Amino acid sequence: MTADHGNAPDSTPPTGGATGPPDSECEPRAALEALQAERLTALLRTLRDRNAFYDRKFSRAGVDVGRLRFFEDLAALPFTTKADLVADQEASPPWGTALTEPLDRYTRYNQTSSTTGRPLRWIDTPETWQWMLECWKAVYRAAGVTGRDRVFFPFSFGPFLGFWTGFDAATQIGAHAIPAGGMTSGQRLALISALAPTVMCCTPTYALRLLDVAREAGGRAALSDGPVRVIIVAGEPGGSIPATRQRIERGWGARVIDHHGLTEVGPISFECLQAPGYLHVNEREFIAEVVDPDTGEPAADGVRGELVITNLGRTASPVIRYRTRDLVVRTRERCACGRTLARLAGGVVARADDMVNVRGVNVYPAAVESVLRAIGPVVEYRCTVQAAGSLRGIFVEVEIEDAVDAAAVAALAASRLREALGLSVPVTPVAAGALPRFEMKARRFVVDRGTPPAGPGTPAGNPQSAASVRIGQEDS
Ligand SMILES: [Zn+2]
Repeated sequence: MTADHGNAPDSTPPTGGATGPPDSECEPRAALEALQAERLTALLRTLRDRNAFYDRKFSRAGVDVGRLRFFEDLAALPFTTKADLVADQEASPPWGTALTEPLDRYTRYNQTSSTTGRPLRWIDTPETWQWMLECWKAVYRAAGVTGRDRVFFPFSFGPFLGFWTGFDAATQIGAHAIPAGGMTSGQRLALISALAPTVMCCTPTYALRLLDVAREAGGRAALSDGPVRVIIVAGEPGGSIPATRQRIERGWGARVIDHHGLTEVGPISFECLQAPGYLHVNEREFIAEVVDPDTGEPAADGVRGELVITNLGRTASPVIRYRTRDLVVRTRERCACGRTLARLAGGVVARADDMVNVRGVNVYPAAVESVLRAIGPVVEYRCTVQAAGSLRGIFVEVEIEDAVDAAAVAALAASRLREALGLSVPVTPVAAGALPRFEMKARRFVVDRGTPPAGPGTPAGNPQSAASVRIGQEDS
């Protein structure tokens, strides 16, 4: 590794026992911020005259980066948006110009999972890939995952970044990594029973899906008594939604650890064992700001705002002050685990792009999930928002466990949705297996832009039509 590739991430061994945090994650915040300032200064110096995208961005903003002093001048740097990066790749296909190294140094390709526009292509050098693996090691460390574990990855590896890095990092901590793509859920359950993995990495949706499949096969008890003790989830907000977590934890007899990241940014955050429902931002490797999504002005701790991230070690393809569109509530109080790293209360609360206005009420997919997952007999659901405009309709379809009064459960769901959203939402029971099942990015919240409203709240149209777009957390 050359000096140009940024500082090596922290590999301080844990102090406080096998699951205790390393001292570096417990430093006073002043020391942490001094480290961030030093690394940001070094990063910007490296990008200068080498990363055409950022040279252009800073020069257009009239910023002489060499004269800035951090932290105090951080806000003088312009924001970067996904639209900026997409436009850059369209203008200079296929890779764009946000690259610091010559093209032949890049060895890994990934892309975002956007279904609403062209995916963003993102490439890494061996050094930046390794930097991401070190970030994943922080996730494993906080989850108490060690070289003695067997880590199971029940999905097919596509071009999405998240679980590739999780897989590689598992092998580097000495754990046994088990790929289980290209299989049915039944085959995966058989593999779990044959190999006894102790850790599973997947979306919250898929952890629930495997429970369903096991239940249909009469094996639910076996899973809650099974070998899996930790489930690291990512890719959807469910990992920090209490009702979804509880359902996964009960069904598997395992602890859920939430984690979030973005393909173009890297593995940003992790949950620790001591504080369920909070995500620590790995501030040794990322600068995290929270801003008002409308004005871009700093948001106070405790107030919902948009997470803005600068990654400090992905020097070959960095993002500076990147508007993630993740809405979060930050706290910088020291955690029970001893870490001084800032935390996001309730994880990623919502995605700014996911909000839909229905008859004057702002509806987020996570709010709907939070209500429906808390109703035990609801096996699966789909929420459809129809057409644009003030007469937008919204309705929910639910699959309900056999031998339960479906009408009563649907009525309960409707009443809880009305309470939570302040909106009347018709809930219709549908036959078992009628709704789609997902492994990677669930599409349970569908906005149908192609069907004119048939009247507020009236189920109509085909929510799977080509004009439908999924909204939900985009990346991991
Ligand atoms: Zn903690």
